[in-house]
Amino acid sequence: MSFRISFETCNAAFGEPGDTVQFRTEVKRILRRVVAVVEAGADEGPVMDINGNKVGSWSLDMSCGCDNTARHEWNQAEEVKR
Ligand SMILES: [Zn+2]
Repeated sequence: MSFRISFETCNAAFGEPGDTVQFRTEVKRILRRVVAVVEAGADEGPVMDINGNKVGSWSLDMSCGCDNTARHEWNQAEEVKR
């Protein structure tokens, strides 16, 4: 099982080159938004910047290559509850 998030940070929402304050502000805003959607029960979704542009996506992938079966069964049970 893995949680993946990826988004581009090149457009205007992330500020001018060198504007680390705006860059971090927008990254933080996006991550908080994803937190809210995860709490609401979603397993995947788009990543939108503050201007409404889709810049990436995130997902909770239930498939896994490891052998931690106890963990997987718990994950599956939690998935069913939602
Ligand atoms: Zn696993």
